[in-house]
Amino acid sequence: MLRNDPDVVVIGAGCAGIAAARALIAAGRSCVVLEAGLRVGGRAYTSDVLGAPFDHGATWLHQARENPLTPEIGEHIDHDTVRERHLFLGDRFATEEELDEYGRACDAFEEAIVQAPAEPDRAVSEVTPKGGRWNTSIAHWLGSQINAAELSMISLQDYVGVDLEGPNLLPRAGVGSIVARLAEGLPIRLGHAVTHLRWDGPGVVVEGDWGTLRAGTAIVTVSTGVLAAGGIRFTPELPAQTRTAIYGLPMGLLTKYGFRAAGEDRFGMAPFHSVRRLLGPGAETPMSWIFWPFGEDHLFGFVGGARAWALAREGAAATEAAARADFAAMFSARGAAALGQCVVTDWGTNPLFLGSYTHASPGHRASRALLAAPLAGGRLRFAGEACHSRFAGTVAGAWLSGEAVARDLAG
Ligand SMILES: Cc1cc2nc3c(=O)[nH]c(=O)nc-3n(C[C@H](O)[C@H](O)[C@H](O)COP(=O)(O)OP(=O)(O)OC[C@H]3O[C@@H](n4cnc5c(N)ncnc54)[C@H](O)[C@@H]3O)c2cc1C
Repeated sequence: MLRNDPDVVVIGAGCAGIAAARALIAAGRSCVVLEAGLRVGGRAYTSDVLGAPFDHGATWLHQARENPLTPEIGEHIDHDTVRERHLFLGDRFATEEELDEYGRACDAFEEAIVQAPAEPDRAVSEVTPKGGRWNTSIAHWLGSQINAAELSMISLQDYVGVDLEGPNLLPRAGVGSIVARLAEGLPIRLGHAVTHLRWDGPGVVVEGDWGTLRAGTAIVTVSTGVLAAGGIRFTPELPAQTRTAIYGLPMGLLTKYGFRAAGEDRFGMAPFHSVRRLLGPGAETPMSWIFWPFGEDHLFGFVGGARAWALAREGAAATEAAARADFAAMFSARGAAALGQCVVTDWGTNPLFLGSYTHASPGHRASRALLAAPLAGGRLRFAGEACHSRFAGTVAGAWLSGEAVARDLAG
Protein backbone atom coordinates (compact mmCIF):
# COMPACT_ATOMS: atom_id res chain seq x y z
CA MET A 1 0.00 0.00 0.00
CA LEU A 2 1.04 3.56 -0.61
CA ARG A 3 1.43 5.70 2.48
CA ASN A 4 -1.91 7.45 1.86
CA ASP A 5 -3.90 4.35 1.04
CA PRO A 6 -6.59 3.81 3.69
CA ASP A 7 -6.80 0.63 5.72
CA VAL A 8 -10.36 0.17 4.54
CA VAL A 9 -12.43 1.38 1.59
CA VAL A 10 -16.16 1.39 2.26
CA ILE A 11 -18.41 1.31 -0.81
CA GLY A 12 -21.71 3.11 -0.22
CA ALA A 13 -22.65 5.81 2.30
CA GLY A 14 -25.99 4.40 3.46
CA CYS A 15 -26.58 3.25 7.04
CA ALA A 16 -24.16 0.32 6.81
CA GLY A 17 -21.37 2.37 5.26
CA ILE A 18 -21.78 5.24 7.73
CA ALA A 19 -21.87 2.89 10.72
CA ALA A 20 -18.79 1.04 9.45
CA ALA A 21 -16.84 4.26 8.92
CA ARG A 22 -17.75 5.57 12.37
CA ALA A 23 -16.66 2.32 14.03
CA LEU A 24 -13.42 2.12 12.04
CA ILE A 25 -12.45 5.68 12.90
CA ALA A 26 -13.37 5.15 16.55
CA ALA A 27 -10.99 2.16 16.52
CA GLY A 28 -8.19 4.25 15.02
CA ARG A 29 -8.32 2.74 11.52
CA SER A 30 -8.18 4.88 8.40
CA CYS A 31 -10.98 4.61 5.86
CA VAL A 32 -12.52 6.27 2.84
CA VAL A 33 -16.20 5.93 1.92
CA LEU A 34 -16.97 6.04 -1.81
CA GLU A 35 -20.57 6.95 -2.58
CA ALA A 36 -21.97 6.97 -6.11
CA GLY A 37 -24.80 9.37 -5.31
CA LEU A 38 -24.62 13.05 -4.48
CA ARG A 39 -25.92 12.67 -0.91
CA VAL A 40 -25.40 10.38 2.06
CA GLY A 41 -27.96 8.08 3.69
CA GLY A 42 -28.88 5.80 0.79
CA ARG A 43 -32.34 4.40 1.44
CA ALA A 44 -32.63 6.63 4.53
CA TYR A 45 -33.28 10.06 3.06
CA THR A 46 -35.33 13.01 4.35
CA SER A 47 -36.26 16.01 2.22
CA ASP A 48 -38.65 18.91 2.74
CA VAL A 49 -40.21 18.53 -0.68
CA LEU A 50 -43.70 18.72 0.89
CA GLY A 51 -42.85 21.66 3.13
CA ALA A 52 -42.00 19.52 6.18
CA PRO A 53 -39.64 16.59 6.78
CA PHE A 54 -40.59 13.74 4.45
CA ASP A 55 -38.76 10.43 4.53
CA HIS A 56 -38.50 9.00 1.03
CA GLY A 57 -37.32 5.61 2.36
CA ALA A 58 -36.96 4.40 5.95
CA THR A 59 -39.72 6.03 8.00
CA TRP A 60 -40.00 4.23 11.38
CA LEU A 61 -37.37 3.05 13.82
CA HIS A 62 -38.64 -0.48 14.39
CA GLN A 63 -37.70 -2.59 17.40
CA ALA A 64 -36.87 0.68 19.09
CA ARG A 65 -35.56 -0.83 22.32
CA GLU A 66 -32.69 -2.45 20.43
CA ASN A 67 -32.42 -0.04 17.51
CA PRO A 68 -28.96 1.59 17.46
CA LEU A 69 -30.50 4.84 16.16
CA THR A 70 -33.05 5.23 18.97
CA PRO A 71 -30.68 7.25 21.20
CA GLU A 72 -30.38 9.78 18.36
CA ILE A 73 -34.09 10.16 17.68
CA GLY A 74 -35.05 13.52 19.27
CA GLU A 75 -38.73 14.53 19.06
CA HIS A 76 -40.86 11.56 18.03
CA ILE A 77 -44.03 9.63 18.60
CA ASP A 78 -44.50 5.95 19.30
CA HIS A 79 -46.81 5.06 16.41
CA ASP A 80 -48.11 1.97 18.22
CA THR A 81 -49.79 4.25 20.76
CA VAL A 82 -51.95 5.81 18.01
CA ARG A 83 -54.79 3.36 18.08
CA GLU A 84 -56.83 4.70 15.18
CA ARG A 85 -56.34 2.35 12.28
CA HIS A 86 -59.17 2.59 9.80
CA LEU A 87 -60.19 -0.18 7.46
CA PHE A 88 -62.18 0.64 4.34
CA LEU A 89 -64.59 -2.07 3.27
CA GLY A 90 -65.46 -1.09 -0.28
CA ASP A 91 -68.10 1.55 0.41
CA ARG A 92 -67.64 2.48 4.08
CA PHE A 93 -65.26 2.28 6.99
CA ALA A 94 -65.28 -0.77 9.26
CA THR A 95 -67.16 -0.63 12.56
CA GLU A 96 -65.41 -1.22 15.89
CA GLU A 97 -66.71 -4.81 15.90
CA GLU A 98 -65.36 -5.43 12.42
CA LEU A 99 -62.02 -3.95 13.37
CA ASP A 100 -61.85 -6.29 16.38
CA GLU A 101 -62.71 -9.22 14.14
CA TYR A 102 -60.00 -8.17 11.68
CA GLY A 103 -57.53 -7.83 14.55
CA ARG A 104 -58.32 -11.35 15.77
CA ALA A 105 -57.94 -12.70 12.22
CA CYS A 106 -54.53 -10.96 11.99
CA ASP A 107 -53.45 -12.62 15.25
CA ALA A 108 -54.58 -16.05 14.00
CA PHE A 109 -52.82 -15.49 10.67
CA GLU A 110 -49.53 -14.63 12.34
CA GLU A 111 -49.90 -17.44 14.85
CA ALA A 112 -50.29 -19.92 11.96
CA ILE A 113 -47.01 -18.67 10.51
CA VAL A 114 -45.12 -18.85 13.79
CA GLN A 115 -46.49 -22.31 14.66
CA ALA A 116 -45.80 -23.85 11.23
CA PRO A 117 -42.93 -26.38 11.22
CA ALA A 118 -39.78 -24.59 10.07
CA GLU A 119 -38.57 -27.56 8.00
CA PRO A 120 -38.62 -27.83 5.11
CA ASP A 121 -38.44 -24.15 4.30
CA ARG A 122 -41.15 -22.99 1.89
CA ALA A 123 -43.10 -19.91 0.94
CA VAL A 124 -44.96 -18.18 3.77
CA SER A 125 -48.17 -18.41 1.72
CA GLU A 126 -48.05 -22.22 2.01
CA VAL A 127 -48.82 -22.13 5.74
CA THR A 128 -51.25 -19.23 6.07
CA PRO A 129 -55.01 -19.48 6.59
CA LYS A 130 -57.07 -18.99 3.44
CA GLY A 131 -60.62 -17.91 2.74
CA GLY A 132 -62.97 -16.09 5.06
CA ARG A 133 -63.64 -12.41 5.06
CA TRP A 134 -60.19 -11.13 6.01
CA ASN A 135 -57.38 -13.49 5.06
CA THR A 136 -56.58 -12.27 1.53
CA SER A 137 -56.40 -8.70 2.85
CA ILE A 138 -54.12 -9.75 5.69
CA ALA A 139 -51.85 -11.61 3.26
CA HIS A 140 -51.69 -8.49 1.10
CA TRP A 141 -50.88 -6.33 4.10
CA LEU A 142 -48.14 -8.57 5.52
CA GLY A 143 -46.74 -9.38 2.07
CA SER A 144 -46.56 -6.51 -0.35
CA GLN A 145 -47.24 -3.69 2.11
CA ILE A 146 -44.90 -4.70 4.95
CA ASN A 147 -42.37 -6.96 3.27
CA ALA A 148 -42.51 -5.34 -0.20
CA ALA A 149 -43.15 -8.72 -1.84
CA GLU A 150 -46.00 -11.23 -1.97
CA LEU A 151 -45.93 -13.93 0.74
CA SER A 152 -45.59 -16.54 -2.03
CA MET A 153 -42.08 -15.17 -2.69
CA ILE A 154 -40.81 -15.07 0.89
CA SER A 155 -39.02 -17.80 2.85
CA LEU A 156 -41.01 -18.91 5.90
CA GLN A 157 -37.80 -19.28 7.94
CA ASP A 158 -36.66 -15.80 7.00
CA TYR A 159 -40.05 -14.28 7.71
CA VAL A 160 -40.13 -15.83 11.18
CA GLY A 161 -36.45 -15.03 11.83
CA VAL A 162 -36.69 -11.33 11.03
CA ASP A 163 -37.89 -9.13 13.89
CA LEU A 164 -40.07 -6.21 12.86
CA GLU A 165 -41.71 -5.71 16.22
CA GLY A 166 -42.44 -2.48 18.04
CA PRO A 167 -42.05 -0.05 19.50
CA ASN A 168 -42.20 1.68 16.10
CA LEU A 169 -41.03 5.25 16.52
CA LEU A 170 -41.59 8.09 14.04
CA PRO A 171 -38.99 10.85 14.39
CA ARG A 172 -40.19 14.36 13.61
CA ALA A 173 -36.94 15.27 11.86
CA GLY A 174 -37.06 12.14 9.70
CA VAL A 175 -34.93 8.99 9.80
CA GLY A 176 -32.83 10.24 6.90
CA SER A 177 -31.84 13.43 8.66
CA ILE A 178 -30.73 11.47 11.75
CA VAL A 179 -28.54 9.29 9.55
CA ALA A 180 -27.16 12.29 7.63
CA ARG A 181 -26.20 13.97 10.91
CA LEU A 182 -24.31 10.85 11.98
CA ALA A 183 -22.34 11.02 8.72
CA GLU A 184 -21.04 14.52 9.38
CA GLY A 185 -17.26 14.75 9.41
CA LEU A 186 -16.68 11.31 7.92
CA PRO A 187 -14.26 10.90 4.97
CA ILE A 188 -17.03 10.40 2.39
CA ARG A 189 -16.47 11.10 -1.31
CA LEU A 190 -19.77 11.74 -3.07
CA GLY A 191 -20.16 11.12 -6.79
CA HIS A 192 -17.61 8.28 -6.64
CA ALA A 193 -19.33 5.26 -8.19
CA VAL A 194 -17.24 2.10 -7.94
CA THR A 195 -17.47 0.09 -11.15
CA HIS A 196 -14.68 -2.47 -10.60
CA LEU A 197 -13.21 -4.11 -7.51
CA ARG A 198 -10.05 -6.24 -7.68
CA TRP A 199 -9.47 -8.51 -4.71
CA ASP A 200 -6.78 -10.81 -6.12
CA GLY A 201 -3.79 -9.00 -4.63
CA PRO A 202 -2.51 -8.51 -1.10
CA GLY A 203 -5.08 -5.71 -0.70
CA VAL A 204 -7.97 -4.46 -2.82
CA VAL A 205 -8.15 -1.99 -5.70
CA VAL A 206 -11.35 -0.13 -6.53
CA GLU A 207 -11.93 1.79 -9.72
CA GLY A 208 -14.43 4.19 -11.22
CA ASP A 209 -14.59 7.12 -13.63
CA TRP A 210 -12.95 9.19 -10.89
CA GLY A 211 -9.78 7.02 -10.79
CA THR A 212 -8.37 4.22 -8.64
CA LEU A 213 -8.01 3.67 -4.91
CA ARG A 214 -6.08 0.95 -3.10
CA ALA A 215 -6.85 -0.24 0.40
CA GLY A 216 -6.17 -3.16 2.69
CA THR A 217 -9.81 -4.23 2.82
CA ALA A 218 -13.10 -3.41 1.11
CA ILE A 219 -16.52 -3.30 2.76
CA VAL A 220 -19.21 -3.42 0.07
CA THR A 221 -22.58 -2.09 1.25
CA VAL A 222 -24.50 -1.63 -2.02
CA SER A 223 -27.89 -3.34 -2.25
CA THR A 224 -28.28 -6.90 -3.50
CA GLY A 225 -30.26 -5.31 -6.36
CA VAL A 226 -27.12 -3.46 -7.46
CA LEU A 227 -24.94 -6.55 -6.96
CA ALA A 228 -27.29 -8.84 -8.88
CA ALA A 229 -27.45 -6.36 -11.76
CA GLY A 230 -23.65 -6.35 -12.03
CA GLY A 231 -23.33 -2.75 -10.83
CA ILE A 232 -19.82 -3.61 -9.61
CA ARG A 233 -17.54 -5.97 -11.55
CA PHE A 234 -15.40 -8.17 -9.31
CA THR A 235 -12.00 -9.61 -10.28
CA PRO A 236 -11.78 -12.46 -9.64
CA GLU A 237 -15.49 -13.19 -9.96
CA LEU A 238 -17.28 -13.69 -6.65
CA PRO A 239 -17.44 -17.32 -5.46
CA ALA A 240 -20.53 -19.29 -6.52
CA GLN A 241 -21.71 -19.42 -2.90
CA THR A 242 -21.69 -15.61 -2.62
CA ARG A 243 -23.47 -15.20 -5.94
CA THR A 244 -26.12 -17.70 -4.86
CA ALA A 245 -26.57 -15.72 -1.63
CA ILE A 246 -27.06 -12.48 -3.61
CA TYR A 247 -29.65 -14.05 -5.91
CA GLY A 248 -31.36 -15.65 -2.89
CA LEU A 249 -31.94 -12.21 -1.36
CA PRO A 250 -33.90 -10.28 -4.00
CA MET A 251 -35.11 -6.75 -3.46
CA GLY A 252 -38.82 -6.23 -2.94
CA LEU A 253 -40.37 -2.93 -3.88
CA LEU A 254 -42.23 -0.56 -1.62
CA THR A 255 -42.96 2.74 -3.33
CA LYS A 256 -43.72 5.57 -0.97
CA TYR A 257 -45.67 8.60 -2.10
CA GLY A 258 -46.73 11.79 -0.36
CA PHE A 259 -49.25 14.51 -1.10
CA ARG A 260 -49.64 17.99 0.20
CA ALA A 261 -53.24 18.09 1.35
CA ALA A 262 -55.68 20.30 3.14
CA GLY A 263 -59.41 20.06 3.76
CA GLU A 264 -61.41 21.74 6.45
CA ASP A 265 -62.56 18.52 8.07
CA ARG A 266 -59.15 16.86 7.63
CA PHE A 267 -61.17 13.91 6.22
CA GLY A 268 -62.13 13.11 9.80
CA MET A 269 -58.59 11.88 10.47
CA ALA A 270 -56.37 13.02 13.33
CA PRO A 271 -52.56 13.14 13.04
CA PHE A 272 -50.97 9.72 12.45
CA HIS A 273 -54.28 7.96 11.76
CA SER A 274 -53.82 5.26 9.17
CA VAL A 275 -56.15 3.80 6.58
CA ARG A 276 -55.96 0.61 4.60
CA ARG A 277 -58.53 -0.92 2.28
CA LEU A 278 -59.90 -4.40 2.39
CA LEU A 279 -59.34 -6.37 -0.80
CA GLY A 280 -62.40 -6.78 -2.93
CA PRO A 281 -63.89 -5.86 -6.27
CA GLY A 282 -62.03 -2.79 -7.54
CA ALA A 283 -59.37 -3.12 -4.85
CA GLU A 284 -57.25 -6.18 -5.71
CA THR A 285 -54.01 -4.55 -4.59
CA PRO A 286 -54.96 -1.55 -2.45
CA MET A 287 -52.55 0.99 -1.03
CA SER A 288 -52.21 2.36 2.50
CA TRP A 289 -52.28 5.89 3.92
CA ILE A 290 -51.05 7.80 6.95
CA PHE A 291 -52.51 11.20 7.72
CA TRP A 292 -51.04 14.49 8.88
CA PRO A 293 -47.74 13.41 10.48
CA PHE A 294 -47.05 15.81 13.37
CA GLY A 295 -50.10 17.80 12.26
CA GLU A 296 -48.42 18.82 8.99
CA ASP A 297 -50.44 19.46 5.83
CA HIS A 298 -49.46 16.29 4.07
CA LEU A 299 -50.20 12.60 4.01
CA PHE A 300 -48.20 9.70 2.76
CA GLY A 301 -48.72 6.13 1.72
CA PHE A 302 -47.31 3.02 0.14
CA VAL A 303 -47.84 0.60 -2.70
CA GLY A 304 -45.79 -2.58 -2.63
CA GLY A 305 -44.91 -5.82 -4.36
CA ALA A 306 -45.87 -6.74 -7.91
CA ARG A 307 -48.15 -3.75 -8.37
CA ALA A 308 -45.43 -1.35 -7.23
CA TRP A 309 -43.00 -2.87 -9.78
CA ALA A 310 -45.59 -2.61 -12.56
CA LEU A 311 -46.36 1.03 -11.72
CA ALA A 312 -42.67 1.91 -11.35
CA ARG A 313 -41.98 0.60 -14.85
CA GLU A 314 -44.70 2.92 -16.18
CA GLY A 315 -43.21 5.92 -14.36
CA ALA A 316 -43.99 8.18 -11.41
CA ALA A 317 -47.13 9.60 -13.06
CA ALA A 318 -48.68 6.12 -13.10
CA THR A 319 -48.09 5.65 -9.36
CA GLU A 320 -49.46 9.12 -8.65
CA ALA A 321 -52.61 8.43 -10.70
CA ALA A 322 -53.11 5.08 -8.99
CA ALA A 323 -52.71 6.67 -5.54
CA ARG A 324 -55.19 9.42 -6.39
CA ALA A 325 -57.67 6.77 -7.56
CA ASP A 326 -57.13 4.72 -4.39
CA PHE A 327 -57.82 7.81 -2.28
CA ALA A 328 -60.86 8.81 -4.35
CA ALA A 329 -62.32 5.33 -3.83
CA MET A 330 -62.51 6.12 -0.12
CA PHE A 331 -62.99 9.87 0.05
CA SER A 332 -64.82 10.54 -3.23
CA ALA A 333 -63.93 13.13 -5.84
CA ARG A 334 -64.06 15.88 -3.22
CA GLY A 335 -61.38 14.07 -1.24
CA ALA A 336 -59.25 13.46 -4.28
CA ALA A 337 -59.45 17.12 -5.24
CA ALA A 338 -57.94 18.02 -1.86
CA LEU A 339 -54.71 16.20 -2.75
CA GLY A 340 -52.14 18.69 -4.01
CA GLN A 341 -48.48 18.43 -4.96
CA CYS A 342 -47.26 14.83 -5.08
CA VAL A 343 -43.92 13.14 -4.60
CA VAL A 344 -43.34 9.55 -5.73
CA THR A 345 -40.16 7.68 -4.85
CA ASP A 346 -38.16 5.79 -7.48
CA TRP A 347 -36.40 3.05 -5.49
CA GLY A 348 -37.28 0.37 -8.04
CA THR A 349 -35.81 2.10 -11.07
CA ASN A 350 -32.95 4.07 -9.49
CA PRO A 351 -29.78 2.16 -10.53
CA LEU A 352 -28.19 2.87 -7.13
CA PHE A 353 -30.81 0.74 -5.33
CA LEU A 354 -33.03 -1.31 -7.72
CA GLY A 355 -35.57 -2.06 -5.02
CA SER A 356 -36.51 -1.16 -1.46
CA TYR A 357 -35.27 -3.96 0.78
CA THR A 358 -34.55 -7.66 0.68
CA HIS A 359 -36.51 -10.77 1.52
CA ALA A 360 -35.06 -14.27 1.32
CA SER A 361 -36.55 -16.48 -1.36
CA PRO A 362 -37.91 -19.82 -0.08
CA GLY A 363 -34.93 -22.04 0.82
CA HIS A 364 -32.54 -19.09 1.11
CA ARG A 365 -32.69 -18.02 4.76
CA ALA A 366 -28.99 -18.93 5.16
CA SER A 367 -28.06 -16.47 2.39
CA ARG A 368 -27.91 -13.59 4.87
CA ALA A 369 -25.14 -15.23 6.89
CA LEU A 370 -23.41 -16.45 3.71
CA LEU A 371 -23.28 -12.94 2.27
CA ALA A 372 -21.90 -11.63 5.56
CA ALA A 373 -19.10 -14.25 5.60
CA PRO A 374 -15.57 -12.86 5.05
CA LEU A 375 -13.91 -13.57 1.70
CA ALA A 376 -10.19 -13.77 0.94
CA GLY A 377 -9.17 -13.98 4.58
CA GLY A 378 -11.30 -10.93 5.43
CA ARG A 379 -10.00 -8.69 2.61
CA LEU A 380 -13.47 -8.48 1.06
CA ARG A 381 -16.57 -8.04 3.21
CA PHE A 382 -20.22 -7.37 2.50
CA ALA A 383 -22.48 -5.42 4.86
CA GLY A 384 -25.94 -3.88 4.74
CA GLU A 385 -29.52 -4.74 5.60
CA ALA A 386 -29.35 -7.93 3.52
CA CYS A 387 -26.56 -9.28 5.75
CA HIS A 388 -28.36 -8.95 9.09
CA SER A 389 -30.36 -12.06 9.92
CA ARG A 390 -32.50 -10.59 12.69
CA PHE A 391 -33.15 -6.99 11.57
CA ALA A 392 -32.98 -7.58 7.81
CA GLY A 393 -34.60 -4.96 5.64
CA THR A 394 -34.23 -2.17 8.19
CA VAL A 395 -31.93 0.69 9.10
CA ALA A 396 -31.15 -1.11 12.35
CA GLY A 397 -29.97 -4.20 10.48
CA ALA A 398 -27.91 -2.15 8.05
CA TRP A 399 -26.32 -0.13 10.85
CA LEU A 400 -25.50 -3.12 13.06
CA SER A 401 -24.16 -5.09 10.10
CA GLY A 402 -21.77 -2.27 9.10
CA GLU A 403 -20.66 -1.79 12.67
CA ALA A 404 -20.05 -5.54 13.17
CA VAL A 405 -17.82 -5.82 10.09
CA ALA A 406 -15.83 -2.75 11.13
CA ARG A 407 -15.34 -4.14 14.65
CA ASP A 408 -14.19 -7.45 13.16
CA LEU A 409 -11.61 -5.65 11.06
CA ALA A 410 -10.47 -3.42 13.87
CA GLY A 411 -10.44 -6.22 16.45
C1 LIG B 1 -39.83 3.03 0.85
C2 LIG B 1 -38.96 2.42 1.92
C3 LIG B 1 -39.45 2.35 3.21
C4 LIG B 1 -38.65 1.82 4.22
N1 LIG B 1 -39.12 1.84 5.51
C5 LIG B 1 -38.29 1.49 6.51
C6 LIG B 1 -38.67 1.74 7.86
O1 LIG B 1 -39.74 2.29 8.13
N2 LIG B 1 -37.80 1.37 8.84
C7 LIG B 1 -36.59 0.80 8.56
O2 LIG B 1 -35.83 0.49 9.48
N3 LIG B 1 -36.21 0.56 7.28
C8 LIG B 1 -37.02 0.91 6.25
N4 LIG B 1 -36.61 0.77 4.96
C9 LIG B 1 -35.36 0.03 4.68
C10 LIG B 1 -34.09 0.83 4.98
O3 LIG B 1 -34.18 2.10 4.37
C11 LIG B 1 -32.89 0.06 4.45
O4 LIG B 1 -32.91 -1.26 4.95
C12 LIG B 1 -31.54 0.67 4.83
O5 LIG B 1 -31.57 2.07 4.70
C13 LIG B 1 -30.46 0.06 3.95
O6 LIG B 1 -29.18 0.60 4.25
P1 LIG B 1 -27.87 -0.01 3.57
O7 LIG B 1 -26.72 0.75 4.10
O8 LIG B 1 -27.88 -1.49 3.71
O9 LIG B 1 -28.05 0.23 2.00
P2 LIG B 1 -28.23 1.59 1.15
O10 LIG B 1 -29.00 2.57 1.92
O11 LIG B 1 -28.76 1.16 -0.17
O12 LIG B 1 -26.74 2.13 0.99
C14 LIG B 1 -25.91 1.71 -0.08
C15 LIG B 1 -25.28 2.95 -0.71
O13 LIG B 1 -24.46 2.50 -1.81
C16 LIG B 1 -24.55 3.46 -2.85
N5 LIG B 1 -24.11 2.83 -4.09
C17 LIG B 1 -24.82 2.03 -4.93
N6 LIG B 1 -24.04 1.62 -5.94
C18 LIG B 1 -22.81 2.13 -5.72
C19 LIG B 1 -21.55 2.03 -6.40
N7 LIG B 1 -21.42 1.30 -7.53
N8 LIG B 1 -20.49 2.71 -5.92
C20 LIG B 1 -20.60 3.46 -4.78
N9 LIG B 1 -21.75 3.58 -4.10
C21 LIG B 1 -22.84 2.92 -4.56
C22 LIG B 1 -26.00 3.89 -2.82
O14 LIG B 1 -26.16 5.15 -3.45
C23 LIG B 1 -26.30 3.92 -1.32
O15 LIG B 1 -26.09 5.21 -0.78
C24 LIG B 1 -37.36 1.31 3.93
C25 LIG B 1 -36.87 1.41 2.63
C26 LIG B 1 -37.65 1.95 1.64
C27 LIG B 1 -37.07 2.08 0.25
